[in-house]
Amino acid sequence: MATPHPKTERTLVVIKPDGLQRTLVGEIIQRYERLGLKLVGMKLLVPTASHVKAHYNLDPNWKRIVGEKSIEAYQKKGLKAPYTDPLKVGDMVIEALQKYLTSGPVIAMVWQGAHAVKIVRKVTGGTEPLTSDVGTIRGDFVMDSYQMADIDGRAVRNLIHASGSVEEANNEIKHWFKKDELVGYRLIAEQILYDVNLDGLLE
Ligand code: GDP
Repeated sequence: MATPHPKTERTLVVIKPDGLQRTLVGEIIQRYERLGLKLVGMKLLVPTASHVKAHYNLDPNWKRIVGEKSIEAYQKKGLKAPYTDPLKVGDMVIEALQKYLTSGPVIAMVWQGAHAVKIVRKVTGGTEPLTSDVGTIRGDFVMDSYQMADIDGRAVRNLIHASGSVEEANNEIKHWFKKDELVGYRLIAEQILYDVNLDGLLE
């Protein structure tokens, strides 16, 4: 089977409860929209704890990776992490994420376009708002850190979930959306983004 064209790539974005409460929905959508990405699915819902747990268990390595990332973030700041076992961090984070993501409505969206997964992650910014780049959504709108979250025994509040790889995106989209909730259509702006010859611009 031929490799799909990068412009057909899709990714899952979930605006977490803090994104809605801080009335940043329009701002967040605009960041993705202005890249040229196409919105192909969107809904407002309060997810159940089991839905959230299943989401973070789609990738069997997620727990370990999340723990390693967190311990490394402490080390980079010259601080000692309050834990040593990455898997235990993963368990704690999953518990905390269930509370966080079920605390209020979220907006689940599917965005499509060239390199959608990587482009969305770049614009969203790194997991920890304290160290995510200025100009990214998390870097511009949140002050939270691993340290703050760990002291208070909660998940890092960072406004958004965005899929980490194409494989993850495909699994996550299936987890959040039924097939008929996604709409395939042509966005007129796609001509200038992707058309090879740019025919028909001049009168
Ligand atoms: P993301 O892909 O950037 O969202 O990050 P991950 O998939 O690694 O983690 C999922 C979510 O769990 C993050 O967005 C944070 O809300 C939260 N989180 C991740 N790591 C930690 C941690 O070490 N401590 C706490 N308290 N929360 C975390």
